[in-house]
Amino acid sequence: MNKGKKIYEGKAKILYEGSEKGTVIQYFKDHATAFNNLKKSTLEGKGILNNKISEHILLNLNKIGIKTHFIKRLNDREQLVHKLDIIPIEFIVRNIATGSLTKRLGIKDGTVLDEPLFEYCYKKDELGDPIIAQEHILAFKWATKNELSEINLTISKINTFMVKMFKNIGIKLVDFKLEFGRSNLNGNNEIMLADEISPDSCRFWDIDSNKKLDKDRFRKDLGNVIEAYQEIAKRLGIDNKFDG
Ligand code: C5P
Repeated sequence: MNKGKKIYEGKAKILYEGSEKGTVIQYFKDHATAFNNLKKSTLEGKGILNNKISEHILLNLNKIGIKTHFIKRLNDREQLVHKLDIIPIEFIVRNIATGSLTKRLGIKDGTVLDEPLFEYCYKKDELGDPIIAQEHILAFKWATKNELSEINLTISKINTFMVKMFKNIGIKLVDFKLEFGRSNLNGNNEIMLADEISPDSCRFWDIDSNKKLDKDRFRKDLGNVIEAYQEIAKRLGIDNKFDG
């Protein structure tokens, strides 16, 4: 499929116009960044793994009725998605306390939460994506009350489904980040899950050993980053042959 003009280049992905109206081609790069771009590297093959892992998860979410932007994977590094008006919020779900939560509140790393904890961050690199309350989302009209309720319900469904999906392959879903946007398909505004779900945006711990199988291996210089992403793909049953 022919790519149109570049719309946006982020840290890990590039977006191009798709050939059909209302579509975008999402290209997965090998770049890895952390700590608001202070740490940077190239991890060969990461883009291919994230493309396939995210395809797998979004297709499975679609099967349980979650609307996502995913249309189809085009090749190793690209997928065709619906063009969305992105809501500028990172929706974070936590099942086990770690990362910025433990730093911010002094909670013991690894504390299992009785109920999933939802957090909201304003997507603004210059401000370091600050944590905000749901009230801020409404006050500054980043989403309407109805949209926010719908998203909260969707997040809850996604978490329940993904916790089970990963438990079945011996992995604890510790926490993850989601993004949502509005599509305007046939004149109807619809909220859809956007972006990607991958070891870049989730924390995965092995059930038995608690070994980290996600981007924390890069953030904390633990080594074998790609091997960890490959392990996730393998356990999910993803065929990881390069197909161009
Ligand atoms: O760093 P923190 O503990 O807040 O991250 C919570 C979860 O959200 C982690 O799974 C992390 O990978 C994800 N996240 C992300 N993109 C960000 C911030 C966090 O994917 N910009």
